[in-house]
Amino acid sequence: MSKGLRLLAFLFAFLGMISFSLNNAQAASFSDVSNHWAQKEIEFLYNKGVISGYGDGSKAVFNPENTVTRAQAAKMIVLAKGKKEVKVTRASFGDVSTGHWASGWVESAIKEGYFNGYEKENKFYPDRVLTRAQMSKVIAHAFNMNAEAASSKPAPFADSKTSWAASYIKTLYYAGVTTGSNGQFKPETNINRGQFATFLSRALSEQFRVTPKPVEEAPTAPAKPAPTPTPEPAPTTYMATGKATVSALNMRSQANSSSTILARLNRGDQVKVYSISGYWAKVNFNGKVGYIHKTYLKLKSTSTSPLKDRLIVVDAGHGGKDPGAVKNGAQEKIVALEVAKRVQTKLQNDGAKVLMTRVSDTYPTLSDRVNFAKSHYGELFISIHFNAAGSSAAKGAETFYNSDNVNSVESKELAVEIQKQLVSMTNMYDRGVKDGNFHVIREQSMPSVLVELGFITNADDYKKLTSPYYWNLYAEAVYRGTKAYYSR
Ligand SMILES: [Zn+2]
Repeated sequence: MSKGLRLLAFLFAFLGMISFSLNNAQAASFSDVSNHWAQKEIEFLYNKGVISGYGDGSKAVFNPENTVTRAQAAKMIVLAKGKKEVKVTRASFGDVSTGHWASGWVESAIKEGYFNGYEKENKFYPDRVLTRAQMSKVIAHAFNMNAEAASSKPAPFADSKTSWAASYIKTLYYAGVTTGSNGQFKPETNINRGQFATFLSRALSEQFRVTPKPVEEAPTAPAKPAPTPTPEPAPTTYMATGKATVSALNMRSQANSSSTILARLNRGDQVKVYSISGYWAKVNFNGKVGYIHKTYLKLKSTSTSPLKDRLIVVDAGHGGKDPGAVKNGAQEKIVALEVAKRVQTKLQNDGAKVLMTRVSDTYPTLSDRVNFAKSHYGELFISIHFNAAGSSAAKGAETFYNSDNVNSVESKELAVEIQKQLVSMTNMYDRGVKDGNFHVIREQSMPSVLVELGFITNADDYKKLTSPYYWNLYAEAVYRGTKAYYSR
């Protein structure tokens, strides 16, 4: 079949425009799964209404070797969880319009938290094929599997230890959802429909689960006498420096929190960074090479700009149904976004990688914003707001950090630098740096601040916050403050 025809057949199957029932209970649900290794699982899901196939009647096929796209997976997960397609009046993503076959399923999967979209790009990428690593994350999340229980156990697959999804893969293994194959998991290969059906059935029902075999921590005796050890030459180039932001910080032998502790750092200790994968930085500390969770490292690029390659999350407050402070037609959500976009441009021009929690008039919840920053391995979080007060006399700018954030010391340093720039560049009344109990900065682990740029209820501040000239100045101040933080 041509690609077009295949797609068409597929759309039909998923749109549910063709339904078929089994007349013969003995017959397999699909002609191409009898004697397939995943036959039981496929039939289980078919009978639960979670999956459908292609074509109809006795000619129906499941195509167990075909890949699974994000949209297909979203639909199957929603059905497997007993949830429904939602009625969509406004699409959350530019590439899954309300007319898209998977629109209601994708929105439902997002709403339930089974999937994340790519908010920065306003896309879901419904046709992207899922890898086994991505599938692991989705299943572990959707079925609330206990990652904590698996975290202290040895990694089951040699090829997945350094995967970004290592903790999810491990969780699935110890939950009896995956066995891998010959000691391998192959995290970056695409998952096929047969494998997906197996994962899903095992997640759904105990009857399909497998008992995980105990994993050897480390070989106790080498089979052959070890050859003369030639020490692995330490890599000589590094991409960044890192400074420990907390004390009693562990450097590990591998990129996970259960491997051997090689060293303990104190706040202020310096490391050289060779590479970063997900949250783990491969570092050299006093000549020893190991891994440190980058949440506790203040990373600075070794190139000309200290901001180069830093992952900075910029959060425009409020949005969508939540306008924030409102006065005379001015809305906090709109002004905050205008400033946030300018901050984004300025940071990007200096080499930073900026992640926006929203780029249009949408409403991510507070926990969406936190989860977004964490799941994208953010290194700094800056939330942009404007203030309102009952009294029109209240005025000025203030910057908050939160003392319960594990990186509160760094957060405060960042707040001080941003506040200093705000006051001097935009001539705002200085309300100072304060400890503020705001969800988005309290629940983060990375250094996080929330800036209140001025009062919509004060006449002088109002003039500034409704002026594009000042939007640029506010953004410049936030940018310069951030750069100053990285330069100290
Ligand atoms: Zn606000």
